[in-house]
Amino acid sequence: MVIISCKECRRKISDTAESCPHCGARQKEATKKVKEYGAITIILIAILLLRIAMNLFFTVTLQTDLERWLYGATAIIYAISFFGVFLKQKWASILVIVFAIIDLILALISGGWSGLGAGVADLTLILLGYLEYKQLSKG
Ligand SMILES: [Zn+2]
Repeated sequence: MVIISCKECRRKISDTAESCPHCGARQKEATKKVKEYGAITIILIAILLLRIAMNLFFTVTLQTDLERWLYGATAIIYAISFFGVFLKQKWASILVIVFAIIDLILALISGGWSGLGAGVADLTLILLGYLEYKQLSKG
């Protein structure tokens, strides 16, 4: 534990205090945590939105009904994940990880450049989902 100055009233307080005992001002550490969490969440939301858009595009353009159905269903799962992450729900990060693993396996089976691209995107989602889950578990 270190003694620091309150950023509002400048009186001495513990660095572990979430708010100043003198004036009640919220302290740096709490603000910093929210910022870090924000960056992960924003990237995760951006990737999920991108995948929703991609899958909706495929749903409209693909040839067979099976492909359309698959991409449509996937878009719905990504949309559910998106709203869950947006509302800071723990289950959403688990859903992102589980679904990205399934999608990664499918990408490995299908192979090729599109498979590789999807695989990289899935690995990013798994990593971000894990970081998001860790952040939510802390707070
Ligand atoms: Zn203070």
